[in-house]
Amino acid sequence: MNLQTNHYKKIMRQYEEKQLKNQHKFNQKKEKVYRAIPEIKKIDEAISQTSIAIAKVLINENLDPQVEMARLKEKNLELSMKKIELLHTNGLPKDYLQKTYECHKCRDTGFIKDQKCSCFKQAIIDLAYEQSNIKNILEYENFNTFSFDYYSNEIDKENNLSPYDNIKSIYNYCTNFVSQFGKEFSNIIFYGNAGVGKTFLSNCIAKSILDKGFNVIYLSAFQIFEIFERSKFRKDDAAYYDDMSENILSCDLLIVDDLGTEFSTSFTNAQLFNCLNTRLINEKPTIISTNLKPSDWSNQYSNRIVSRIFGNYEPLKVFGEDIRIKKAFN
Ligand SMILES: [Zn+2]
Repeated sequence: MNLQTNHYKKIMRQYEEKQLKNQHKFNQKKEKVYRAIPEIKKIDEAISQTSIAIAKVLINENLDPQVEMARLKEKNLELSMKKIELLHTNGLPKDYLQKTYECHKCRDTGFIKDQKCSCFKQAIIDLAYEQSNIKNILEYENFNTFSFDYYSNEIDKENNLSPYDNIKSIYNYCTNFVSQFGKEFSNIIFYGNAGVGKTFLSNCIAKSILDKGFNVIYLSAFQIFEIFERSKFRKDDAAYYDDMSENILSCDLLIVDDLGTEFSTSFTNAQLFNCLNTRLINEKPTIISTNLKPSDWSNQYSNRIVSRIFGNYEPLKVFGEDIRIKKAFN
C-alpha cells in the first residue's frame, strides 16, 4: 500500500492520541485504586523496586545472574498474585489494573513487531476512501439495532413467504456469514426493491467484520468504476488510484453497494468481471447489493459476469414494504 506522507502522519497522530487517552484512563483508575486500597500502591512500589534490582544484578559480576534473576522473578510473581487477590477481595475484576486498548493485537501502536497491524491497514482505507462517515453510520446500523418490526407477517403472494420469515432467515444467514468469516469462503448478493433493508444488512456485516479486525472497503459501484477508470486512463494522481484499485481487489471484504445504477459500458463490464473474478480466485469475499432482478442481469452485463456471480454468490432476496417510507410516517 503506497501511502501519502500526510496520510501517514495523520494516522500516526491518531495512534498517539489513542495511546495518550489510554494512559490517562489508566492513571485515573490507578489513582482511584490507590486511594481505596493503599496496600496495592505499596505492592506496585515493591514491583518497581525489583525491576531496579534486576538491572543491578545484570551489572554486578559477583552475583550469579541466573540464580538472582529466578529469585527476583519469583518475587515479582508473588507480588502480582497478591495484587490480584486484593483486587478480587475488594470486588474488582482481576484485570482492573491492566491498560485497555481499542486494538489488542497491536496495543494501539499500529504495528506488530515491524509489520503494520490490520487496524493500521483499515485506517489507511478509511482515510483513502473517506470512509469515516460510514463508521458513524455503523454505530447505529448494526446487528444490535436491526429491527424486524418493519417486516410484515402476512404472506407475500409473489414469494409465497412472509417478509418477516424471509428476513429472519436472511438475518441468520448473515450472522453465520460473519461467524464463519476467515474460515469459510462465501459471497452474498442482496437483491430486491429500494428501501427494503439491503444496505442496512450490508452495514451490519461491515460493522461485525471490522470489529473482528479485518479490513473492509465499502463503496458504491459508481465509485468503484471511477477509481478503476482513473487508474486505467492515467488521470491526475494515477499512482494513488492504482493503489486504491489494488486495495479493492485485495481487501478482506469488499462491499459493492447499488450495483446496476452505474452507466455500463464495455469498459465497466471488463473491469467488473476482472474485479469479481480476481477476488474469487484469491478467495476474498464480496457482498453486492442491487435493485436489479436476476432476470435483468443479462440485459446489463455480459454472460460471463452473470454466470460468475450466480455460480459463486448466495442470492438473498429481500422484500417487504419500503422501510424509508414507513420510518418517515412513524
Ligand atoms: Zn492494531
